[in-house]
Amino acid sequence: MKKIKNYINGKLVDSTNKRFINNFNPSTGKKYSLIPDSQKKDVLLAVDSAKKAFVTWSKKTKKERYELLMCLANNIDLNFKKLVQAESFDTGKPEWLTKSVDIPRCSENIKFFATASLHFDSKFHEMDGAAINYTLKEPVGVVGAISPWNLPLYLLTWKIAPALAAGNTVIAKPSEITPYTAFLFSKICIKSGIPPGVINIVHGLGSIVGEEIVKHKDVPIITFTGGTKTGRRIASIAAKNFKKLSLELGGKNPNIVFSDTDIKKAVEWAIKSSFLNQGQVCLCGSRLFVEKTIYNEFKSLFVKRTLDLIVGDPKKEESFLGSVVSQNHMKNILKKISEAKKLGGKVLVGGKRKLLDGKFKNGYFLEPTIIENLSYLSKTNQEEIFGPVVCLIPFDTEDEVVKMANSTNYGLSASVFTNNISRGHRVAAKIKSGIVWINSWLIRDLRIPFGGMKSSGLGREGGFGSLDFFTEQKNVCLKIDSEP
Ligand code: NDP
Repeated sequence: MKKIKNYINGKLVDSTNKRFINNFNPSTGKKYSLIPDSQKKDVLLAVDSAKKAFVTWSKKTKKERYELLMCLANNIDLNFKKLVQAESFDTGKPEWLTKSVDIPRCSENIKFFATASLHFDSKFHEMDGAAINYTLKEPVGVVGAISPWNLPLYLLTWKIAPALAAGNTVIAKPSEITPYTAFLFSKICIKSGIPPGVINIVHGLGSIVGEEIVKHKDVPIITFTGGTKTGRRIASIAAKNFKKLSLELGGKNPNIVFSDTDIKKAVEWAIKSSFLNQGQVCLCGSRLFVEKTIYNEFKSLFVKRTLDLIVGDPKKEESFLGSVVSQNHMKNILKKISEAKKLGGKVLVGGKRKLLDGKFKNGYFLEPTIIENLSYLSKTNQEEIFGPVVCLIPFDTEDEVVKMANSTNYGLSASVFTNNISRGHRVAAKIKSGIVWINSWLIRDLRIPFGGMKSSGLGREGGFGSLDFFTEQKNVCLKIDSEP
């Protein structure tokens, strides 16, 4: 049985109570590791070490921090294969996905923000010769970074990299369900010579470790990615202490297909946006609006392509879907499918657990599922499911579909498929979400502002926006005497 350890003050340690939580491989349903069941005491130790490390880390030159971070990124690349296998094993997602998306993005995140910090500038305001203002951007302090299970190391590095590049130190809490690559990352940090206390990783339950981090008076800034309900709880705690806060939360993203699009291409995008990572990407399009005049044609192609998708061994290249992340999550998704049926939803494909043979017989696999015949206002079309489930909804007009797309409490992302450029721009402008793709999905440029509107989040990270978030701005005004 593997034993995962906390990473505090440069050392790999058990939790102070020496208790553990079980960790499962979701594709087999078997327990395979133990993670520290950390408590307040462990968080206090980690914050203490991060506070001490801040004194020297924040004073390093940008170039010194850049060099250490580039060394960290290069060591991630050297451990590429191990991380690819570990991320797939821990989450149940296919290895081709961790190889092409998750793990490459970890070192990319670090290289990107290490480099960005060298180019990060600040403003200067001149007052007709009477005074000049210049703005300093200073690191904030100890950053609390809390991340989810769907893209474990990818999202952890998305937070840690800009925080460190801007001169802060970090206490991070990965999801208790997917702790393994964060543990391997701790070892890579040690190997890369990251000074003790600059990065601390404390494993354990969100309700204990996560909450203690958010409450701690010496953690003035929190970056959180996860569910909207947890985000609300964190915001309520952070607000009392006026902490800087960035929240990247859930979504119920619309994909809109107009009749003037290339239907085959739109179907291929819909396959990806509905089922990639078993539908467990916050940006997945779970409401698929299709113009009535092409609805039947689109539906039959989409159904046919979905029936071809292989759900299976995460190690095999041909498996488009692996297992979902946990037994609990699988049960939740099945419950939501059954609720959809009770509401009158017609399951066109899937709808059930996928039972595999051999070592995967107890794995948490689900069939990719398409549902139709539900109102856009139904619970199924308003609440996040976060699994391989998509609802088809026909529409007549542009105005109607914009209204339906904007009807949820969420506003993270959307896709619009049309060959009419003006319509693409027009609809993108009317959609209430942080990101809109036209004729595509999930094309990511790390420079863009990333985040959601409404209940999908607060603030934007990405590019210099992340560095702005992880710094405090201080304006210095210098009066110039008019007489010598
Ligand atoms: P959760 O909100 O359940 O958990 C996210 C993280 O918060 C975990 O590390 C969790 O720990 C921790 N946590 C739980 N409770 C608390 C608390 N009271 N105080 C502090 N931390 C806490 O989300 P999931 O892990 O289930 O992730 C899925 C969600 O994340 C979906 O809603 C998805 O849409 C969203 N997401 C959003 C993204 C975006 O960029 N907008 C990107 C990716 C996902 P533990 O696991 O131990 O409970």
